[in-house]
Amino acid sequence: MSGMKLIPSVYAESVYLLNGKPFRLTNRRYLDPIYNADIKDGIIMSGRQVEKSTTASTMIANYTTLISNFNALYFAPLTDQVDEFSNNRLGKLYKYSQNDYIKSNFLGRAYKDNVHYKEFANGSVNYLRHCFEYGDNIRGISVNGIWGDEIQDIHIDALPVIKETQSHALESGCGMKITWYTGTPKTFSNTIQQYWDKSTQNEWVVKCPHCNYPQILGLKNLTPTKFICAKCGEEIPNEARINGIWVKLQPGNKIEGFRISQTMVPWITAEDIWDKYTTYSTAKFYNEVLGRSYDNADKPFTMTMLNRICENEYRLYDRAKDVFANRPTFMGVDWGSGDNAYTVILIFGLNPDGKLQLIFAKRCDTGKETDVTWQTEYISQLMGIFRVKYCIVDIGYGQAQYEILRNRFGKRVASCYYSFNLGVDTKWNEKKQQWVVNRTRVIFDYAEAIGNCEIVWAGRDRNQYEWLFDNHLVENAEYRKNKNGKSEDLMYNHPEGQPDDGLHAGVYAHLAYKLSQNNLASNIKFSGVHIPS
Ligand SMILES: [Zn+2]
Repeated sequence: MSGMKLIPSVYAESVYLLNGKPFRLTNRRYLDPIYNADIKDGIIMSGRQVEKSTTASTMIANYTTLISNFNALYFAPLTDQVDEFSNNRLGKLYKYSQNDYIKSNFLGRAYKDNVHYKEFANGSVNYLRHCFEYGDNIRGISVNGIWGDEIQDIHIDALPVIKETQSHALESGCGMKITWYTGTPKTFSNTIQQYWDKSTQNEWVVKCPHCNYPQILGLKNLTPTKFICAKCGEEIPNEARINGIWVKLQPGNKIEGFRISQTMVPWITAEDIWDKYTTYSTAKFYNEVLGRSYDNADKPFTMTMLNRICENEYRLYDRAKDVFANRPTFMGVDWGSGDNAYTVILIFGLNPDGKLQLIFAKRCDTGKETDVTWQTEYISQLMGIFRVKYCIVDIGYGQAQYEILRNRFGKRVASCYYSFNLGVDTKWNEKKQQWVVNRTRVIFDYAEAIGNCEIVWAGRDRNQYEWLFDNHLVENAEYRKNKNGKSEDLMYNHPEGQPDDGLHAGVYAHLAYKLSQNNLASNIKFSGVHIPS
């Protein structure tokens, strides 16, 4: 913090109260650079219960009171989180300080003090805002400092919108600009991990007092009663944990990143951590205790699952023959959107064991195949030679193709529209002649069908559609807090540039089968559409 006469951590200890007692940073040496190193761009990726909110509130209060005309923005995904932070963290630091230092020097009747807006006698201002979806709530204010909390639940595209609030930071307010993001990791594709990857990645390195081996405490250091050295197995005492040092794993990066785990903080014991290790899910333990991202649990499709559905001697076909000559078949089409993504056509037949068996797989990826007119003619031929009972096509990039197919095949073809609205159940939109489905639910059902081996692929010909494995393995699933904050919504996504069209073609074919099966079983006409048998 340039321009400050005091060391910020010392100032914090001499000014604030926490639960009625003087604020102390005892045995928290890992916080030194976070308070004192004049970092302009920082991120803290941490486990739960490591005083993240206390650190953010004292930092904001430091800048606000030590620097005149400092305009600060605190944001978190949900209104409740913002209100809690404003009322119980930041607000209390201002209201109750040692010898009423803050009250007598910075507050007064002339200065506004609301939950979402606070003014101070030195000209500083604090804004506190929620940031659901794309940060619309934050546009239009101008600040010097940004503290973004729980950024694992903030959409990555919202952060540039929020950064706009600093576009005049160097000419307005106190004429400086600083940004801190904090949060608890989730998957490797999450917002916080993407920022962490761009950071210096400071890790707290602890030296074993017995053998001098330097180490980052993790799973290998845990036992039911004490922390042990990963090399010599002797006990790592508290003093060694407290006296660790920060080591940058990526020193060339611009953002200063710090990972704070529960194994570093002085008040959490080895027993506590062992207890969590034996009761938490692996993902939760990694995220909330170690402060690390964790992916396997959040991969809806794994190689093990896909290998299992290929453990058979089934093969692909070029027409409906043999066992499939007189059995119902279903087609799913996902139109490629260009950019490394191709139109994928999958056909499944209901085999004598009652399983949905992959009998045809095509990715239209070369020469004339990438032309949509060619694709429409090709699909028309397949409809005939595979005697497709019901075909569902994606509507995203394929309205024109769909209309042609619909004219040719009538109700044997339908389009599908993915809705992100979880309230939506599968329903037929008569006007648009399309199925509207809940995106998460249909992908979830499909993943479950693969997990249960209700869907099987052609094991003998697996080398003919290796791309289909890739198209499934790229998919990630994660939970994001929903708008009311009371529950979490499951979201499926894939990394940019790694297509998942084959997965969606599979989802559409599976949906075609399910709709057709329901129709036959219940003999009820789906609102407006009759699927021919
Ligand atoms: Zn050792």
